[in-house]
Amino acid sequence: MKIICIGRNYREHAKELNNAIPEKPVFFMKPDTALLQKNNPFFYPDFSNDIHYETEIVLKINRNGKHIDEKFAPKYFNEISVGIDFTARDLQAEQKKKGLPWEIAKAFDGAAPIGKFIPKENFADINNLNFSLKINGKTRQQGNTSDMMFSFNRIIAYVSRFISLKTGDLIFTGTPAGVGPTAINDHFEVFIENEKLLEFNVK
Ligand code: MG
Repeated sequence: MKIICIGRNYREHAKELNNAIPEKPVFFMKPDTALLQKNNPFFYPDFSNDIHYETEIVLKINRNGKHIDEKFAPKYFNEISVGIDFTARDLQAEQKKKGLPWEIAKAFDGAAPIGKFIPKENFADINNLNFSLKINGKTRQQGNTSDMMFSFNRIIAYVSRFISLKTGDLIFTGTPAGVGPTAINDHFEVFIENEKLLEFNVK
């Protein structure tokens, strides 16, 4: 399986990092070795001093497809969850300055914690979903999927023009504003509406 991540999908987040508002979705990938599941701890890596959290809604692809038309995109995912797109912001800044790829800052082991997946039918409207992150009991990031510049369906249509999607692939759909640094001993709790779907410690 593969993990596709959308960058700069929330206007206020693009602005907080001084990035231009994109006209097309920006995407990058993480390998399966980045996955962190079952609330296992995240080990702060020794190659960075500025690991940031980015709280995101994650889609799970449930059928194979390519060149998926936007109107058929809902048939290609039936479950959603939350995830953290951990980013070594110091390494990413060096790469961005040089115009180089971001993998070193985004694709490392453990950089993709994901929560429990929930059928999307359980939600009244997935295009108007609140999601949030608490660290050590304090709310640190809050978003609503209605603020996405590119909808879930648009993302699936766009990405599948370039890369075939397969059952089990995951799509991180971008982070709202409020990203920030984490530290050893932090306790993460991630919610969709009031339901906690992910919880882990930083070690
Ligand atoms: Mg992200």
